[in-house]
Order: sequence, then C-alpha cells, then structure tokens
Amino acid sequence: MKTFLVGGVHPADKKISADAAIEELPVPKIAYISMAQHLGAPAEPCVAVGDKVKVGQQIGKATGFVSAPVHSSVSGTVKSIETVLDLAGKPSTAVVIETEGDEWMEGIDRSETIVSEIKLEKKELVEKIKECGVVGLGGATFPTSVKLSPPPTATPTCVIINGAECEPYLTSDYRVLLEKPEQVLIGCEILMKALGVNKCYIGIEENKQKAIDLLTKLAVEKNHPNIEVVKLKKKYPQGGEKQLIDAVIGKRVPSMGLPVDTGAVVQNVGTTFAVYEAVQKNKPLFSGVMTVTGDCSKAQKNFLHRVGTPLNEIMDYCGGIPEDAAKIISGGPMMGKAISNIKAPTLKGTSSILYLTEEQTKRKEEGNCIRCGKCVEACPMSLEPYLLYKLWKVRDMDQLEDHYIYDCIECGCCLFTCPAYVPLLDAVRQAKASVMKIMKSRPKK
Ligand code: SF4
Ligand code: SF4
Repeated sequence: MKTFLVGGVHPADKKISADAAIEELPVPKIAYISMAQHLGAPAEPCVAVGDKVKVGQQIGKATGFVSAPVHSSVSGTVKSIETVLDLAGKPSTAVVIETEGDEWMEGIDRSETIVSEIKLEKKELVEKIKECGVVGLGGATFPTSVKLSPPPTATPTCVIINGAECEPYLTSDYRVLLEKPEQVLIGCEILMKALGVNKCYIGIEENKQKAIDLLTKLAVEKNHPNIEVVKLKKKYPQGGEKQLIDAVIGKRVPSMGLPVDTGAVVQNVGTTFAVYEAVQKNKPLFSGVMTVTGDCSKAQKNFLHRVGTPLNEIMDYCGGIPEDAAKIISGGPMMGKAISNIKAPTLKGTSSILYLTEEQTKRKEEGNCIRCGKCVEACPMSLEPYLLYKLWKVRDMDQLEDHYIYDCIECGCCLFTCPAYVPLLDAVRQAKASVMKIMKSRPKK
C-alpha cells in the first residue's frame, strides 16, 4: 500500500460521524456572507442595501487574478453591508441578507439527474469554474481557476484528488465520496479536460474502504478508464499536497517549488464535487458539507450548510455546546483553528465544528529537550524541529532561513510526537511567519 516516504504520525482516527448521512441544515433566517472566503484579494460587494437577491446570485465580484466571486446562499433582501468577525475574531466585509422563501436563480439545475456529458471546452471550463466562485475546500481556499491555469513553465501531467481526509474526526469528504461518487468521477473528468491531461488518481486512506470499493467499481462501470483509485496507508499528514503527491506518484515537490512542478495538480474531494455542480448544473459555490463531532459532542453529524449560517445556530441545532467541551475547533484537531467567536458565519471552506474536552486540550507541562530525535523522524518536510525551536528562541533569522523554516507546513507532527512537550508548533509557526516576512521584503532579483 502506498504512502509518503518521510515522517508522519498516527493519531487515532476517531471518525465517529462516518456513518451519518449528509443532512441539509435549515436555511438561516439571516445570512452573513463574508467577502473574504478565499485566499487572495477579498471580493467586493456588487449589491446594495434594499436589493432583492435570489439563491445563487452573485453578490460579490472578484477583485484580482487571485480572488473569487461570492454568491448568495439565500433569497431575500439585503439588510446591510457590514463588518463581521470570523471565527478567530478577524474582521471582513459581509453582505447581510434577511431570508424570504428559497427562490433560486433560473438556470441552476436543482434536479437529481446526473449529467455526464461535458460540453464546454478547456478554456470555457476554467472560466465557468471561476464564474461560479469555486475555491479549494481542503483548507487553503485557493481559487480553483488559478490552480487550473498553471504557469507556462509548468507541464501538468495528472490530477490527484485528495480523498485522504487524514485529520482525525473529519468525515465530510468521506460522505461526499459515498453519496456523490458519480458526480465526483465526472468532476475528475472536468478537471482533466480543463488541464489537458488524461490521468487522474483519487487517493483514499485505507480506513475508508467502502469509498475505495465504491469509487473503484464505478470508475469501471461508468467508463472512466483514466481514473485510478489509489489506496493509501493511513498516516497523517497524507492530505498535505506535497505528501499526497509523494504518496501517489512518488515525486517530491522541490523546496520553494510549486506542486505542479511534479506534473500533478491536486484538488480536494469537496472541490471536485463543487466543480461538477458548477459546470454540469450551473450551480455556484454557496453551500458545503461540514461535520459536527467530538467525543463529547451531543450530535455526530454531516451537514450541507448554506454559506453565511452563524456557527452558533448550527451548535444550537445540534443540542447546544456540550457542558464538558473545553475548546471548539473548526477543522481537524491537528491543523484546525480554535473558534473564539461562535457567532461567526460559515464560509465556503468551513469543514467542521469539533468539540474537544479539557483532557484533550490540556497543555502538558513543558520539559527540556532530551535530544531523542523523535520530532526529526516525524517531520514530513525533513526539517529539524528541535533546532528550529532553539534558533527561534534566540531569534537567529539567518540560520532559520538556512534551515528551510519556510518549508514547514505547520502540520504539528513534531509537537504530537515530542515526549518532553516542547511547544515546537507555536515556535515554528511564529518563526516561519517572521522569516517569510523578511524574505518577501527583499527586492526581487
Ligand atoms: S510543523 Fe513544521 S517542523 Fe513540525 S513536523 Fe510539521 S513541517 Fe515539520
Ligand atoms: S522530540 Fe522533543 S525532546 Fe525529542 S529531540 Fe525533538 S524537541 Fe527534543
């Protein structure tokens, strides 16, 4: 079975919500739709207070090459355009819509019919994906159309679909694979056509055997000879772009290089489904699948949410915040972000509400490094975390750069494995941000 070669750890997978079929959440009474839903320049509102909008109508226009338009997830009246705070308290402009009914834009195909014939040509596909505001749903929310327009120096040779879902607890991609497998396969065909390649791999970890069997069977039955399902050994962070490329095609992304330098373009399962919906059903990206889970969670669910739904409404819908929840995370426990503002609205990339107990979040007392080398062994980027930690303590920025701190993917494997509980992740994150700032400030050669 395949996996990436260097480093990695094996946290318990805790896929408690894996058997919960995707349910549609109620449409929010008021949707707070942020214009900052993607990596790059935020969108700019293109509606005014008092305007009537429909589901799927564009309400924010892209403001640059690395940007994406935003569409309404509800129908109703624009109540205000105001600043909202995201889950970490960071402000962004949002279009606030008071919902009236559920009227969709004409032209969006809401039927269950699966459309397999891809009528659009290469360039038109990229344009359609761009128009529909599709962004990467694996965490980075990078506009998908940009990833489908590689630099002229790069020659894409294959698409790799990230179905690893290697973070503990998360199950939304798994449910999409089980419940929308044919649509995902057509999404793969669209991505191949948009890039002009004729090979696609879907990497799925061994703990999702049902999805591996189903996709493998349907790839044959539905005549997708160029799509290959690759069973991967369970190991974190296999869903990292660089690790997935290594696992599936055995190539390593060069330091400071682009993943496409290996020939591979990686897309997440949720993104692939969104690409299908955009191209074949004319449906912009205004909803997504997310998981509500945790050992102490009152519900174990996978939901289809409308973008702009306040997180606290979803929490209430699931029975409220559990008494013994000490921390709430959006994303997985390894790389997710703590939710400090529970009223924050969902975004395109929202993947979960995860409740952790005090026992799970308690910081163990920091000890001294015993030079065991476990963090070096676990680092999937071949870094020396204990050394980076020491260099950061004395703020030796030159040495940090010389030791490739910029290659750190902030996966947390070093912290996970350290027997002395040295706060390696906090240190490497801060060190990386500072070194990157210095590097970016240098004049380009
Ligand atoms: S957080 Fe950075 S330094 Fe630590 S294991 Fe991951 S890549 Fe290596
Ligand atoms: S794992 Fe912890 S104790 Fe071991 S070398 Fe790394 S920092 Fe030191």
